[in-house]
Amino acid sequence: MYIDGEWQSASGGKTFEVLNPADGAVITTVPDGAAVDARRAIEAADGAFGAWSRTTAYFRADILQKAHRLMLERKEDLAHTLTGEQGKPIRSARIEVQYAADFLQWFAEEAKRINGEILPSARNDQRFMVLRQPVGVVAAITPWNYPISMITRKVGPALAAGCTVVLKPAEATPLCAIEMFKIFEEAGVPKGAVNLVTASDPKPIGAELTSHPAIRKLTFTGSTAVGKMLAAEAAGRMKRVSMELGGHAPFIVCEDADPVHAAKGGSLVKFLNTGQACISPNRFYVHRSNYDAFLEALTARVSKMKAGSGFEDGVGIGPLVNEAAIEKVDGQVRDALTKGAKAFAGGAPLTDGALSKGHFYAPTVLAGVTPDMRIYHEETFGPVAPVIRYDDEDDVLAMANDTEYGLAAYIYTQNLSRAMRLFEGLKFGIIGINDINPTSAAAPFGGMKNSGVGREGAREGLDEYLETKLGGFAI
Ligand code: NAP
Repeated sequence: MYIDGEWQSASGGKTFEVLNPADGAVITTVPDGAAVDARRAIEAADGAFGAWSRTTAYFRADILQKAHRLMLERKEDLAHTLTGEQGKPIRSARIEVQYAADFLQWFAEEAKRINGEILPSARNDQRFMVLRQPVGVVAAITPWNYPISMITRKVGPALAAGCTVVLKPAEATPLCAIEMFKIFEEAGVPKGAVNLVTASDPKPIGAELTSHPAIRKLTFTGSTAVGKMLAAEAAGRMKRVSMELGGHAPFIVCEDADPVHAAKGGSLVKFLNTGQACISPNRFYVHRSNYDAFLEALTARVSKMKAGSGFEDGVGIGPLVNEAAIEKVDGQVRDALTKGAKAFAGGAPLTDGALSKGHFYAPTVLAGVTPDMRIYHEETFGPVAPVIRYDDEDDVLAMANDTEYGLAAYIYTQNLSRAMRLFEGLKFGIIGINDINPTSAAAPFGGMKNSGVGREGAREGLDEYLETKLGGFAI
């Protein structure tokens, strides 16, 4: 762990194993932190806050730019660490490292634009000044599916704003976090300004982070259930929160879309990270006129996908994170098949040969999915594409919005009016219109409803770490 500028063991001396999800091999062990370690990390961050918050934006930007450069210099090593502990194909790992580095650069630049305002008053003898100041010590909790970019998307803006940070990464992916903290250290982040606590049991750490009075903000990315629980705890202490939670994205293929092109886009975004992405499509709504052609093109693509270790050439489908994930995905698929869906591809775990050592599930296409099936409502977080036929634009809009989630949605159409109507009507935070990658460091990322509160990236992502202070000056 990295606390107050020192690499440390857990105070109790305990460690836990980090596993390769492709073959179950133990990669290494890391410190298993407890509440007392989280407390020491918070105290270090609290101690460092005063000095760090008074540095100039130019100084902080310079450090973030150095960290950005170091990430790019170490792109290949970071990608290897990522594929090793998380499993995604090495090509995707390189893309994640680049995406992650972008946040450091973007927020380094944006740090210099934390402007206040002078406001006119209705009184002649009064002036208003609005100052933007860092919120204070930030607690950050990150998931395993994007273990590098979820760190920079939080730590980048927090440091840019002048906040200090305590980070708890996911149990499955602490090695990416350790490599990132080496980079922060080398880039010159002063001691105490960033702190890392690794742990196998997140509960005591979470309890410390949500209850300690020095923490002024909690930023969390993970499941809706855990996010709601942590947000409720934080609310009791009136801490600010940002919550990036689960999703259940609709992917709408309209009657005027090219079904083959849409199937290409759909397969790329659905099977990205083996479906373990919060913006992964979970319902493909295809207009009746395009249904057969779309299903055929999607099935052809999916049937060719190769599963295996992310280090192997040509592999597009890595392992799922653990056996519980296999059981969840398979449970949803079995439920759908029992209720009348048909598997056009896949439909079962992959256990042949070397795959038996990891957690692999066949890339799957399910046709004839209906609202009574679990997969229609539950986030799958796995490589399954459920396809649903529709007839009418109003109906598909209502069906797409009929979910507790509101993170990402996708539309394929060549009709501008229809694109605009659906864009305006969909109750989701991020909408791709003939676009399967509507994400960037410069673009606000976040969801509505049970997908969370707040935005990451962009100007909004920096605002999350700033307080607004008003000065009324009588003159
Ligand atoms: P998770 O189980 O909620 O875990 C996320 C993080 O929270 C991990 O670091 C986890 O630690 C920690 N955690 C779990 N219980 C905790 C507790 N009681 N107190 C404090 N921390 C706790 O979610 P996940 O399975 O890792 O991630 C998948 C979910 O994340 C999906 O629902 C996905 O949609 C969502 N996600 C959302 C976004 C977004 O931007 N909206 C991005 C990526 C992922 P351990 O690993 O040690 O359990």
